[in-house]
Amino acid sequence: MWEADSDDLFGNAGSTSSGGGLGRQTPAARAVTGELTGEDIDVERSLRPQSLADYCGQERVVENLRVLIQAARARGEALDHVIFSGPPGLGKTTLAGIVANEMGAKLRTTSGPAIERTGDLAAILTNLEEGDVLFVDEIHRLNHQVEEVLYPAMEDFFLDIVIGKGPAARSIRLDVPHFTLVGATTRTGLLTGPLRDRFGISYRLDYYSVRDLATIVERSANILGVQLDHDASAEIASRSRGTPRLANRLLKRVRDYAQVKAGGQITWEVAAEALSFFEIDELGLDWMDLKILGALTQTFRGRPVGLSTIASAVAEDPSTLEDVYEPYLLQQGLIVRTPQGRQATLAAFEHLGVTPPV
Ligand code: ADP
Repeated sequence: MWEADSDDLFGNAGSTSSGGGLGRQTPAARAVTGELTGEDIDVERSLRPQSLADYCGQERVVENLRVLIQAARARGEALDHVIFSGPPGLGKTTLAGIVANEMGAKLRTTSGPAIERTGDLAAILTNLEEGDVLFVDEIHRLNHQVEEVLYPAMEDFFLDIVIGKGPAARSIRLDVPHFTLVGATTRTGLLTGPLRDRFGISYRLDYYSVRDLATIVERSANILGVQLDHDASAEIASRSRGTPRLANRLLKRVRDYAQVKAGGQITWEVAAEALSFFEIDELGLDWMDLKILGALTQTFRGRPVGLSTIASAVAEDPSTLEDVYEPYLLQQGLIVRTPQGRQATLAAFEHLGVTPPV
């Protein structure tokens, strides 16, 4: 029951916010998904903003958090539990770290699938100190039993744990320190009602504007020591699907290209050339997005299609389609969701240069 290795669980700082079949994707696809790849982990750490002042965009969330953190600090209390939702790469993990920093608290990191048993959760919670921030990535993937034990811990800061089995089983109650749970999920729809209700603070992160992404690209270029022109950062930003992780990743790919082909300086021409070279189109769509749109416009001729049918048409996992690809296509108005299924819009036909059916 107590065998959980808390170092393993807490050491899991590079966890991602979504399940996806990265291993099966080509490098071109990897350049545009919001997923975290192994090569990125170290660089990501150096690029990650550490304070609210460094965090670009999401003004409403930032302003809100600033007030709540200031109030909690003034009262000398832990911040209420917070849940961040939104597609991968938008800054949920970053915000968890910032909440801890701004509260002057320690950050502990784990993820829903890593907490397999109630004993794992008990080990994590009883090792916390007063005021700590516990970040649980992919919190929608916590299993049911673990969730049940988490409820009283979140609400009243105690745990009821059953030790042993059968007639010898007994229940013990343990106090846990006042902590702040910060949860992240790519899918609020998958959170159970009781869990959702126990978060006092809930934010949905939106895709970033091109302006905010350009600021992020320039900040990252500064940290990485990369020289780039203003309109080059705007070009990278406009092809980053509204996602800071992708903006940083595209910046690194453009830097590589410029280093080999253009003597290092990144002008607008070099950025545009590099992005075309890596097959990222003007909307930031990659070959998988184009394959999805191709299926909806050509194979299915604009008719509504179910998620699993699209998934088999493009040979991708349905949950990756739903978590990683679909939100951006919806946001760009290239597809719509109808009760009958997903459907390509006129904008999708136009973008692909395909004549819509009459
Ligand atoms: P998520 O947890 O939502 O998948 P992360 O918090 O890991 O996303 O963010 C991915 C990367 O994007 C971070 O390493 C950070 O460098 C960058 N990033 C995210 N949000 C911002 C932001 N608002 N300002 C600057 N950089 C950001």
